[in-house]
Amino acid sequence: MAVALASTDRLASLAGRRPTLATLCSHSSLQIFHGARTEGFATLGLCIGAPPRFYDAFPLARPDRFLSVPTAKDLPSVAERLRSDGAIIVPHGSFVEYVGADRFAEIDVPVFGNRAVLAWESDRRKERDWLDIAGVPMPKRYEEPSEIDGPVIVKYYGAKGGKGFFLAKNREALADFRPTGPYVIQEYVLGTRYYMHFFYSPLSDRGYRVGHGSLELLGMDRRDEANIDELYKLGAQEELLKAGIRPTFVVTGNVPVVLRESLLPKAFDVAARIVESSIDLFGGMVGPFCVEGIMTEDLEFKVFEISTRIVAGTNLFISGSPYSDLVAPALSTGRRIAQEIHRGETEGRLAEILS
Ligand code: ATP
Repeated sequence: MAVALASTDRLASLAGRRPTLATLCSHSSLQIFHGARTEGFATLGLCIGAPPRFYDAFPLARPDRFLSVPTAKDLPSVAERLRSDGAIIVPHGSFVEYVGADRFAEIDVPVFGNRAVLAWESDRRKERDWLDIAGVPMPKRYEEPSEIDGPVIVKYYGAKGGKGFFLAKNREALADFRPTGPYVIQEYVLGTRYYMHFFYSPLSDRGYRVGHGSLELLGMDRRDEANIDELYKLGAQEELLKAGIRPTFVVTGNVPVVLRESLLPKAFDVAARIVESSIDLFGGMVGPFCVEGIMTEDLEFKVFEISTRIVAGTNLFISGSPYSDLVAPALSTGRRIAQEIHRGETEGRLAEILS
């Protein structure tokens, strides 16, 4: 049965008009604007300060209009203006991070997707509970350093892009560990990383059925992470440390990957479980999400993170990916978002995909 995420009040600004798709000029905005324009929507670029000049270099992805605010924290204050423009906000990772999850959840403008997901995603413990309930394999978590029985990764909360994370080969290596803030200690999973770009449509009634809609796989990438990805060149972490360099995981780019075809059932099973438990826990996640995990040599896929909106790795696939090409031609995640909004409009079902 369909779930209404948005109240009639929330959607009042869209009544009887074609919406404008708005997002913050950063992260995956070129793709979002390009997809929206391809599907015939007007577009609005929200920017901090003057409109970024690089948009002039990409005429097919430049928004029709810009709206500037002094800082990201000021975005909620232009809500009335956005409503009067008939805007729907399309969130992306940087949008939520810059505005802050709490403030973003309160913005009084229709947002694509279910904003209730923010409370589950922005808190590492809650995210783990969600994945636990979904029955998804995850890296083991150690409550105390004394429990450690193998290599671990220590993650500070809110360490964006993995900055400040570090690895320890064993318990002894953490003997002198003095935390500088809240953290978790996780099993360091040895294997190959995959960042899988899924899309859940509650409106679709065909394809790979999950919940009351269907699940699509639109692409896959691996992140280039400085400086850990260069670790092999120095031989071992100790060598880096001896050189006075702490390994970090700061994302600097993305490369396309595909999964062994025989592992696709596993990927879909994990993603479907995450969607199904989201429906039970908070009315369901809508639209793009990314399952981030490590395939071990025993072909077990351990999920270390989910991102519940469009991820920057999808920027690789503006004209399609080896997966989205098998769904529809030239289908980016940005375009898929616009298509979903278009369908919601046409079928009078926007309340199921906006909040
Ligand atoms: P972001 O928000 O940018 O996704 P983050 O700060 O939430 O980053 P994670 O995504 O949890 O951090 O991890 C950052 C990187 O650390 C991953 O991309 C991966 O390379 C590595 N990593 C995280 N957890 C593990 C693990 N348990 N085992 C091995 N590597 C891991």
